[in-house]
Parts: sequence; C-alpha cells; structure tokens
Amino acid sequence: MSDAHAPVFQVALPLPLPRLFDYAAPAGRAPGTDDIGRRVRVPFGPRELVGVVAAVGAAAPGSPELRAVLARLDEQPLLHGELLDSLHWLARYTHAPLGEVLATALPAALRRGEPLPDTHAWAWRLTEAGATALSGLRQGTRPRRLAELLHDAGRDEDALDAALEDWRGAARSLARRGYAERVAMPASQLAPMPAPGPTPHPEQQAAIEAVRDAGGFAPLLLDGVTGSGKTEVYLHAIADCLARGRQALVLVPEIGLTPQLLARFRARLGVPVHATHSGLNDGERARTWAAAWRGEARVVVGTRSAVFTPLPDAGLIVVDEEHDGSYKQQDGIRYHARDFALVRGKALGVPVLLGSATPSLETLHNATTGGRYGYLRLSQRAGDAKPPAVRVMDVRKRPLEAGLSAQMLEAIRTALADGGQVLVFRNRRGYAPVLLCHDCGWSAQCPRCGTPEVGRPMTVHAHGRRLQCHHCGHRRAAPPACPDCAGLALQPQGVGTERIEEVLAAKFEGVPVLRIDRGSTQRRDGLATLLGGIGERPGILIGTQMLAKGHDLPNLTLVCVVGIDEGLFSADFRSHEKLAQLLIQVAGRAGRAQRAGQVLLQTHHPDHPLLATLIDGGYHAFAAEELAQREAAGFPPFAHLALLRAEAKHAGPPLAFLQAAKQCLAPARAGETRPAQDAPALSGPMPAPMPRRAGMHRAQLLLSAPSRRSLHAALEAALPPIHALPEARKVRWSLDVDPVDL
Ligand code: ADP
Ligand code: ZN
Ligand code: ZN
Repeated sequence: MSDAHAPVFQVALPLPLPRLFDYAAPAGRAPGTDDIGRRVRVPFGPRELVGVVAAVGAAAPGSPELRAVLARLDEQPLLHGELLDSLHWLARYTHAPLGEVLATALPAALRRGEPLPDTHAWAWRLTEAGATALSGLRQGTRPRRLAELLHDAGRDEDALDAALEDWRGAARSLARRGYAERVAMPASQLAPMPAPGPTPHPEQQAAIEAVRDAGGFAPLLLDGVTGSGKTEVYLHAIADCLARGRQALVLVPEIGLTPQLLARFRARLGVPVHATHSGLNDGERARTWAAAWRGEARVVVGTRSAVFTPLPDAGLIVVDEEHDGSYKQQDGIRYHARDFALVRGKALGVPVLLGSATPSLETLHNATTGGRYGYLRLSQRAGDAKPPAVRVMDVRKRPLEAGLSAQMLEAIRTALADGGQVLVFRNRRGYAPVLLCHDCGWSAQCPRCGTPEVGRPMTVHAHGRRLQCHHCGHRRAAPPACPDCAGLALQPQGVGTERIEEVLAAKFEGVPVLRIDRGSTQRRDGLATLLGGIGERPGILIGTQMLAKGHDLPNLTLVCVVGIDEGLFSADFRSHEKLAQLLIQVAGRAGRAQRAGQVLLQTHHPDHPLLATLIDGGYHAFAAEELAQREAAGFPPFAHLALLRAEAKHAGPPLAFLQAAKQCLAPARAGETRPAQDAPALSGPMPAPMPRRAGMHRAQLLLSAPSRRSLHAALEAALPPIHALPEARKVRWSLDVDPVDL
C-alpha cells in the first residue's frame, strides 16, 4: 500500500481512456503544483510513454504501490495558462481523453519527449568597424545599400531576402572586410522593416478600425469576394498588433499556404513570419511552436494544427477562408480549428477575424440574424479589377468531347488567342470515374470498399492502364478483358482531369496544358513550381478543387466549370453549401487583375434552384435560402449534432454496439413515456453513407439537440456506460461533435 498522503503526479497519457494515471514522484523531489503542464516520461505496462502532468494530488486511498515517474522532461511547464485551460475545454467539448487532446496539441517531436528546440533566427548586423566605414562605401552599390539597411539594427535573413536582391554577395563582401557579421538572434529582437502597401479604401479602413477598436475579444466576420482586399485588412490588423508588441496567429487552409502568401506577409510586415504546416518536418514544426512559446515568434502562419500555437503575448487571431473544410480534423481528436480559435480568442481577450468570400452558414448566421459577431463587408474588388461575368451553358442534347461542349472549346480558343490563361475545373481526378464492360454491364469495383448492394467503382488512371480506389487507395492494373464475359469491350466512362488534359493537349498543340490535382502535385511546393513554370503565358490549367484558391493567377481570364451536376443531388445536408462555396471560389479566380474575367458553367440542369439563385443573387441569396431550409429541417446552425461512428470487419458488431449505445443515451425509464423535451433526438443506428471502406463495415448513430447544453449533458451522462459496453470491445468507435460529414 502506498502512503495515502504523499502527493502523486496525475498524468495525462495519450491513451484512449478517459482518465488520468497516478505516478509517484521520482526520488529526491516532491511533486508540486508547478509541475502541472510539464512533460514526464513514465512506465506503462512494458512500455514507456510521454505524458503531461495534469494535476498533483493525493493517491487514492488503498491504491496499490505506484510506479514512479522515470524523468521530468521540462525545466518549466510546457503547457500552462490560457493554452492549458483551453485544451481542458477542448477535451470536455470533444468528450475526448485529456491525454489525447494534449498530445494532439503538441508538435510530434515534443510529443515524443524531445527537448524544446533552439529557436534563434539568423541575422546580420554591422560591426563597429562597419558602422564607421559606412559613409566611405561607394554610394548606390549593393554593399553600401546593405550596410544602410543594417545601420540601426540587425536584420534577419528572411527580411533581407524581401528587401534587397542578391544581398548575400554583398554580405560576404562586407564580412570579408570585417564590416558585418552573421549572428543568431531571437526573432523578437529584430527590428521590423515593413514595406508600404496600397492605401486602404473606406471599407477596408472601417474593417481595420473595427479590429483596432475591439479592445478585447471580438468575433468579427470579414465578408468580401475574392480580390476585395481581405488580405490587406489582415496585414494592417497584424501590423497594428505588432506595433502594440503583441503576437498574431494566422490560420490558412491547407491549400492556401503558398510561398507567395508567405513572401507577401514577410515583405509587408518586415518581421520574420513563422510558418507551420504539414509540409515541414517535425523539427521545423517544433521550432515554430517553441519560438511562439518563448514569445519570440511575432507572426505565426499555419494550417489547422497551428491553432495550438502558444501565444503568451497574443494580440490577434485571423482565420482566412473560415469556411474551408480543412479546418476540421477528421480523425483522432475531431476539433474544428476555426471554432477552437474563437474559444482561444475569448480566453485570451483578443479579436478573432474570420475572413471569407463564402462564409460558412454557421458564421453567417452568427454575424447576421444572431448578431453575435461583428459583420464587416468588402463589397467590391479592390483596385481596378472587375467581377467576372458568369454564364450557365445548357449542354442537354449537345455532343460533348471529353465532357466539353463545342461552345466551351470555342471560348477556350478565343481566350488563348487573346493571350489569356484558361482554367478548366473538374472536381474528379484520374482518367475516368468508371471502367465499364459495354457487352455485359460489368464495372470495376473496389474489393475493399462497397458492399454487394452498393458498389464503389474504381477510378481509371494512366490512360486506362491502372485502376485506383479514391476511398481506400487500393490499386491494380486494369484487366485486359472483362472478368465476367471475357469480352474486349471495356470502356472508361465519364471524364476525369487526366482525360480532359489528353484531349485539350491534342486540340491546342503548342499551348502549355497543366494538370493540377493531388496526382500531379505530390510535394507541397509542386503546385507553385508547376504554376511558376507557366508564368503569365497563355495556357490551360486543368484541375480539381486544389485550384479553387492558393497561388495567384493574374492572367487568368476564363474559368470553365464542368461536371458539377452530381453535387447538385447529393444527400448530405452540407453538400449544397460546399458546392456553392466551391463554385464561387473557382469563379473568383477569373479576372483578378486588370483583365476582365469570364466564367462558363456547363450543366445538364440549368434550372436547378441552387444554380439559379447563385447566378442571380450571388452567395448571399443562396445562403439566405439555404439557412431557411436548414431551419425548417432542423439542421445546424439551428440544431447541434454529434455523430457516434463504429466500424468492424463484419457488419454486425458496429450496429450492435450503436444499438447498445443508443440505450445508454435514451434509457427507457420506468414510468416515463417521453424523454425530456430538449433531450437529443437519436437517428439510427444506420449504415454510414459509405457502408464499407478499406474492408471495414461502418455504421453511425446521429444525435441532434436544440441546444449545445442538452447535447453535452446527454453525452456526459452516457459516455461512461458506453465506454464500458461489452459491445465496445468488438468495434473501433469514435464520437464526432459538430460533424461536417454525416
Ligand atoms: P483578397 O484577400 O480579398 O482576395 P487581396 O487583399 O489579396 O484580396 O487584394 C486583391 C488585390 O487587390 C491585391 O493585388 C491587392 O494588392 C490589391 N488591393 C487590395 N486593396 C487595395 C487597395 N485599397 N487599393 C489598391 N489595390 C488594392
Ligand atoms: Zn463483360
Ligand atoms: Zn477502396
């Protein structure tokens, strides 16, 4: 028996168990509350794990001998203050174990127990000899210009990149003469070297002032079409934040974090900009995190997980393209980075600026009817850019070539002849979505996805030579003959980006044709490299939604949208919102600079209400109609959802588990005929929209409640018995609060 009074570490471990684990202190030092938030290495069964001390308390009376912590890994608590409090909130909100939430919040290297890395920036400064010799250097030469830049303060290498071309040669020449030296400096000691931008127009000015005057937490929606100058507003708001000595955090979508964007931020703000995204290695990500933790990083720009950046001097959080789907984590801890950014902004007492040309219906509702958010609008494109003209093309009964009508091909020809670039948007990569036997009707199905009732076609790739499942990644060679009837009439059906590329390359010989999709841009900088190669020359870009944003294309004059019809008839309640956003985003790419832009939208359903509303009234008219429908149907933002998912090798166990879980959520109480009025409604269990994927049968149970409070109260009460269900051991299950895909 352990001493019931000796304080113990209560450690949050990255395990799917909703509890903390007690450990005795290492020999020679009693645990104290200043240990909370430090990482420790502990024995766990035969393994060693890295966890975070969540509390220090007394061992439970009568508990067996505790094992001791093997090592304390941090000199100071790594997680503390606002970030630790917010992560506790996130664990409660997602109903996930604290240990898993904390592990999700830490960069991988720190999660593994590595020490907080060194975070200085490389900078250049003048030596005393250099300061004296400055006036003797020949006017106008590069060494003289560099010496002038370094005159008042050291400058970091990123800033010099933006300020002076080929500065490195000049730096070497100064260093040879003993006039300048390269030094390691924390980013916070570097003097900002901002570059001027365009003068804000009145709407931008109003938005910049709204952020400046917020004086504490304020959720603000910045609603403006592509090219309306939202990024300019961010830059001004960040500059204000820096001037107050505060840190700014900027979240951008997965695809929006381009080298172009970082270069623009670096040049305009004139301070080091720390980036963090999935294209960086673990060491680099840990460095950004550590630099922010130390308060050295003043501006952090990153994708979803950047929302866990420590901000000891926070001044502003920006969420660009707040509607973007990549902000929602789809496995593990299913957090929404935009929503968590709002929670952190509130805890930190700083404004949170949500920008979008197509705000999510939740955010729009909060900014308009709800009145809970400040609503800032930029109604026009900045500078001279004009909005693109949008035309719907009815292709019923018209012959199509690789899915393109003759009219569309003609428009492409004209745009190219005028020296412009053309974007052909088709949200389906590969050569063709289906391989079909024309003799017997057989089609190639993924053996690991789909069920006997509902098949999942494999996508044809490599001009018909290969088949690939886009759900599980399964690949195989295309069969030479039909496996059912041995006939040779196998034909790719439908059109993917590869096939459009093939046809357009043949039709427009001598014109560069670039295909941009996940297949053609494996590396993060692949997209920039590909697009850089074409520059502003006339050419054709063919791509999936990867092309809907990101890299700026000033010479793009024509956007052709094809093959969107399947999205018009999807069952998911969010499918229309997603399609409308995608269409507006893609259309917004046309005519960003001086040249007017045109958008052609090809469909077999020209009268579909979604298209009609979107074309006539724009995104806001669509959003108003869609919100009315959501309200009538009881969907978010008018209801709060949670989805319990389960999967297993066989179809039975997921349904059995969910059935048992349903009993835990709505216990049949004796004498009660009706559940409480605001108790969540339960639908299911039912097979998931993809009933089988990668060999696993999948099912789900949906909870829908009129208020967040009642949803969470029901989950709070039901989850302990659900965890304890014997059926739970036969499945992999997860809970998704605020699911985006049902
Ligand atoms: P968004 O982020 O809304 O797409 P940006 O901030 O990138 O818009 O602005 C689009 C273009 O318009 C950029 O080239 C930018 O430099 C320019 N721009 C923005 N604001 C102004 C302004 N007030 N005057 C002139 N040009 C502007
Ligand atoms: Zn056949
Ligand atoms: Zn598959």
